This record gives sequence, C-alpha cells and structure tokens, in this order.
Amino acid sequence: MKYLKTIECRSILNKSGIPGIDYAINPYIGCTHKCQYCYAVFMKRFSGHTEPWGDFVDIKTNAPVVLERQLTRLKRRSHINFGTVCDAYQPIERKYKITRECLSKLIPYNHSVSILTKSPLVTRDIDLLRRIDDIEVGFTITTLDPKVRKVFEPGTSPPRQRFRAIKILSQYKIHTWVFVAPVLPYFTDSEYMITQIIKKARNAGARYIMFDTLNPYPKVWKNLKRLVKKHFPEAIEHFRSFQNDADHYCNRLRRKITDIGFQNMMSCKFAFGCG
Ligand code: SF4
Repeated sequence: MKYLKTIECRSILNKSGIPGIDYAINPYIGCTHKCQYCYAVFMKRFSGHTEPWGDFVDIKTNAPVVLERQLTRLKRRSHINFGTVCDAYQPIERKYKITRECLSKLIPYNHSVSILTKSPLVTRDIDLLRRIDDIEVGFTITTLDPKVRKVFEPGTSPPRQRFRAIKILSQYKIHTWVFVAPVLPYFTDSEYMITQIIKKARNAGARYIMFDTLNPYPKVWKNLKRLVKKHFPEAIEHFRSFQNDADHYCNRLRRKITDIGFQNMMSCKFAFGCG
C-alpha cells in the first residue's frame, strides 16, 4: 500500500441513488482490490486524490461514532448497503475493523443490511452478522481464471476463497448470492464459464446469481482495452463486438444465462437491460 491515511468523516450513512438501496456506508475512500473496470474511480475526483486507483486508502476512523449518531436520527426502516464505492472488507479492514464496528452499531436497529464484497474476510464477522435479522452478503466473482483475475482485479482474493466464504456463511444460515459483474467479453461469457460459475455458486449455497455487463464508462473502457491488447490480444475482437453492438450482445447473453440457469436449477437475475 503506497498511500494510507486516517481521516475523520462528517457523515457515514449517505443517501444512495442505487435502486433498492436507501443508504450506503463506505468506511474507506479508495480500494486496494484495484479492479480495472471499477466505476468508483470517480471518487478520486471527489476526494482530491491524484494517485492511481488502488494505490491509496483513506480510513474513516470515526465512522462508527458518526454512524451511531446518524442511526438515532433515522426514523424510517431502511435498506443499508456496505460498499457502493469501496470494498468494506478490503485487506486494510483486517487491521482497522471500521466495517466491523459499524456493523455492531446496526445490531439494535431493525434495518435491512446488505454487503457486497470480493473478500472472504467478511466471515470474520459472522458473530455480528448473525445478530442482524435481515442481512444478505453478496460476493462479486467475475472470473475463475487466475491470470485473468491478476490482470483485471489484482488486489482481490482467489475466487475459491470467496466460494468457501459463501459456504461458511450459508452454513450459518446467512443469505448469500453471487454477482457476476461485469461479465467480461471472451473471458466470462462462454457457455462453459457461465455454467462453471453457476454450478459453483449453487453448490456453495448461494440463493441466486446476478449478472451485469460492462459499463462502457469512457475512462474505464479505454483502460480495459489497453489491458486486453497487452495481455490477451486474442480477446480484443470480442470487446469490440460488445462495444459496437451492445444490445445484440446483451440479448444473446441474457438468453444464454437464462437457459443455463434453468438447466442447473439456479435462480438468475439481471442487472442489465437489453435494447
Ligand atoms: S472491489 Fe469494488 S470498489 Fe473495490 S476496486 Fe473492485 S470494483 Fe472497485
């Protein structure tokens, strides 16, 4: 980790524009999972960071205290999500436990809580998760291939550790699901790969699996194409065909996933629309 600093936040429970999520808790600014398709890079602009995405983290050390105060003022039962612009269980959480402390503040309340992560570290907090009545933990898994993971999400844990975490949480009756986001053209969209991920999710105990396609956010798109050209030149045509006719691509992908989900008795949902 190159740039690490502690900061104080004024608000930690922040209104979310994401459908279905009333409030977001992001205990950190920045994310060392360093996913190359991450749309949260816009946080650099908001926070004044000039370092590359993935090389800095600001730790909101007073987040639990601020959360406690904000929760007393929150009158309506709400859906609160951890990690809309960072991973609340990125490696630094092991030491600072900001997410853990925030979770503990939520226990006396009756809010619905969700966590979306790429880290098995969430299993450390099973004792707290079990005390929240309405909780769901999602694991993002975009590839099973170690080389693809190292290029596109170099700071993340291997997928087998995430599937194992799903299994452990499921054994404790904590609801889990898998988010395949983004489906990477060429790498994740083949029948074989989709089937593998669906089977592994189902066998680990995930309740459902959701898919999303790449968001062609210009900066992200440029970066991805650069990486594909450098590391996987054989895949560049697939990326281009997605870019040139996203509607057609999405329609085909949706049909493919629906069929595979049906064959494997797994509930599949879609975060993307089709033209
Ligand atoms: S884990 Fe999420 S927030 Fe972190 S870099 Fe990856 S996509 Fe971005």
